[in-house]
Parts: sequence; structure tokens; C-alpha cells
Amino acid sequence: MRLRNVPGSRDTIAESRFTIKNEKECKGKWNEIFGNDHPIFIEVGMGKGQFIMTLAQQNPDINYVGIEKYSSVLVRAIEKQEELDLPNLYFIRMEAEYLADVFAPDEVSGIYLNFSDPWPKDRHAKRRLTSVQFLERYEHILKKDGHVVFKTDNRDLFDFSLEQANEAEHWTILNHTFDLHHSEYVEGNIMTEYETRFVEMGNAICRMEIMQVK
Ligand code: SAM
Repeated sequence: MRLRNVPGSRDTIAESRFTIKNEKECKGKWNEIFGNDHPIFIEVGMGKGQFIMTLAQQNPDINYVGIEKYSSVLVRAIEKQEELDLPNLYFIRMEAEYLADVFAPDEVSGIYLNFSDPWPKDRHAKRRLTSVQFLERYEHILKKDGHVVFKTDNRDLFDFSLEQANEAEHWTILNHTFDLHHSEYVEGNIMTEYETRFVEMGNAICRMEIMQVK
């Protein structure tokens, strides 16, 4: 994905009360940080945050943490959150590879992956957020029976993701569709920025929901 640099975005992130700076110190303490014992759901690769902000508005009794590696996109979510001031939502600028340094075992109730980068070259397969390597990372932080919900318009990435979930030792596929917007799973669907764009282009959206069965 090509990104335009947004001048000052790193400073905005450093100064925002909605971003977590010392994320490794939060491991095992997320309920303290939110000030309640509500379940915690995370979105990995949240981009500008439309999806997770809508979820946080709709579900005040659930806590959300948005993970994004690029300042230039995360800053857009922070600007929106400054207006909304949702108490159940924080952001972290970080690389998802290190999630297990930030969340303790069983600390996370569910994970959303939306329109994750495809990494089309075979040699980069383990960087895909639905690879067996990433599923193992999610196992370290997800509660038993915790779900991962993944959406994409990229059929190759989706087929790969179904294969990986089948191959991975501790996961089962609960449901999947190759055309979310013409399926029963569309009810309650929250559109992401990329999804809006791809639906307008006429692309079918694939979605799978998998569960950890360790
Ligand atoms: N989820 C948003 C949506 O659906 O509109 C954004 C999709 S965009 C294609 C993928 C986003 O994931 C980018 O903002 C990218 O920086 C972020 N991302 C990709 N790999 C990541 C990783 N390993 N750790 C954290 N963020 C990641």
C-alpha cells in the first residue's frame, strides 16, 4: 500500500490521550487501563479506523484497541476520536508481529482483520495476517473460544487464509462466504473504508470467522 506522509502525525500520536505509548507495560493490565472488566476486542491493521470506531459507538460495554503500524493513517483515526471521545477505544501504533508483548494470555476476546495487506509473493506469505505464523501469535493472546473475523476482496488471499485456518492445529472454521453482501452474514455488517471502495467497484467481499479451540 502506498502512503502519503502526513507531516506532524508522529507528534499527534505522541501527544494524543487516545494512543497508548508504553504498550509493553500494558500487558495483563488492560482492564485497569479501561477502568472496567469488559471484554477486549482488537482490530489489527485498522487504517483510518471507521470500522472500530463504529463498533465502539455501538457497543459501549465492550472495550476496543485498534492496532496500526503507520502514523499517517492512524492520525486520521485519532482526529475522529478527538471529536467522538469514546471511552472504550484506544489505539496503538505498532507492528502486529509483537502482539504477544502487549496482551497477556486470554486477555483478548476477539480479533478483527479487515482488508489486510495481501503480500502476494510466496516468499512473503508468513507476513500475511492470516498465516499460520500469525494465527499462532493470536493464540497467545486470545481467550479459549475467541474468534478471528477476516474480510477481504482478494480471493487469492482468502483462499490462502481458509487453507491456513484448516492447517493450523488449534483453529476451526465456523463459517465463510465468498460474497458477504449477498449472504446471511451481511446483517449487522460494518463497512470499513476499503470495503466501501471495493463494493462501489463491484468486487465481491469474502468473509470468514474462525475460532480457537486450544
Ligand atoms: N482495515 C482498514 C480498512 O479495511 O479500511 C485498512 C485496510 S489497509 C489495506 C491495511 C492496513 O493494515 C494498513 O493501514 C496497514 O498499515 C495495516 N497493517 C498491515 N500490516 C500490518 C501489521 N503487520 N501491523 C500493523 N498494521 C498493519
